[in-house]
Amino acid sequence: MSDANAECNIKVLCRFRPLNKSEINRGDKFIPIFQREDTVIFGGKSYVFDQVFPTNATQEQVYNTCAKQIVKDVLGGYNGTIFAYGQTSSGKTHTMEGDLHDPQGMGIIPRIAEDIFEHIFAMDENLEFHIKVSYFEIYMDKIRDLLDVTKTNLSVHEDKYRVPYVKGCTERFVTSPEEVMDVIDEGKASRHVAVTNMNEHSSRSHSIFLINIKQENVETEQKLCGKLYLVDLAGSEKVSKTGAEGAVLDEAKNINRSLSALGNVISALAEGTKSHVPYRDSKMTRILQDSLGGNCRTTMFICCSPSSYNDVETKSTLMFGQRAK
Ligand code: ADP
Ligand code: MG
Repeated sequence: MSDANAECNIKVLCRFRPLNKSEINRGDKFIPIFQREDTVIFGGKSYVFDQVFPTNATQEQVYNTCAKQIVKDVLGGYNGTIFAYGQTSSGKTHTMEGDLHDPQGMGIIPRIAEDIFEHIFAMDENLEFHIKVSYFEIYMDKIRDLLDVTKTNLSVHEDKYRVPYVKGCTERFVTSPEEVMDVIDEGKASRHVAVTNMNEHSSRSHSIFLINIKQENVETEQKLCGKLYLVDLAGSEKVSKTGAEGAVLDEAKNINRSLSALGNVISALAEGTKSHVPYRDSKMTRILQDSLGGNCRTTMFICCSPSSYNDVETKSTLMFGQRAK
C-alpha cells in the first residue's frame, strides 16, 4: 500500500464489485481497467488510491490489507473509523458486513470481531479487557438505537473531556466474536421491524457500529482505551435517477447534505492540520470527531459498480474518493 497519506492517517481504498446478473442480461459493458494495485482507469480517466481492489478481490484480502492493522492500533489505544461510501448496490454492506455466518463471505466487521478476541486471548494475562458495542443509525438527522427500538431520537452530547457521544445509546458488553455477531443480528432485525422496505431504508440511512475497548493492567493499574466506528453510509446516488419528489426528495437532500459534510471534513483533514475542520456541520461528523483524522486511523472504502449503466454515479463516487487524497 502506498504511504502518501501516512502522515494524516487517512487511507482511501477503492473496491469494484462484479457485474450482476441483470446487468449482464441487459448487455451492460464492464468499464474499469485495473492498472496497478493503486490505479483504476474509468471512462478514460485514471484514479489513484491507496489501493484498488478489482472485482475478484476476496473478503479476506480486503480485510488483511485495510483493517487488520487498525485492530492492532485500536488495541494499542488509538481511535479509528472505517467507512463505506458508494451508490446503492455498489457493495458497501458486502464490504462492511458481508455474510456474517460464512467464513469466506464474512466482511470487515465480523473479521474485526474475531481478530480482537484472538489478540486478547494471546495477550498478557495481567490485562483485563472490557469491550462494549453499540449499534445505531442516522436517518433524516435522527439517531435511532438499533438495540432499543424505543430510542428513536437520541442526541449528541460531550463528556467532561469534551469527547462527543450519543447520549443514552445502548451499550452491550461482549466477551466473544459470537456475541458481537448476535448484537449485529439483533440490530438488523430491529431495523427490519421498523420499516416496510428494508433495502430502501438501509440505502437512505447511515448505520454505525461502535466497538469500544478498555483495557487495564491489573498489576500496574495502567489503562488504555480505543474505539472503532464502522460506518455503512447511505447510498450516494443523485436523486434525479429515481425521479423523487416530496418525502423522498427530502430524504435525498438530507443524505446529500450529510455526505457533503463528511466529504468536507475528510478533505480538510487530508489538507493538513492548518485548515479548519467543519466537524459541527452534521450529526455524524460530530459523533466521529475524536475518531477521524489526527492520531486516528481513518479508512474510506469507495465502493463502485463496474457497469456502463452506472457510469455517471461511479465517476462521482471516484471523485468523492479523490477529494480525500
Ligand atoms: P450496498 O450496501 O452498497 O447497497 P450491497 O453490499 O448490498 O450494496 O451489494 C449489492 C449486491 O452485490 C449484493 O447482493 C452483494 O452480495 C453483491 N456484491 C457486492 N459486492 C460484491 C463483491 N465484491 N463480490 C461479489 N458480490 C458482491
Ligand atoms: Mg447496504
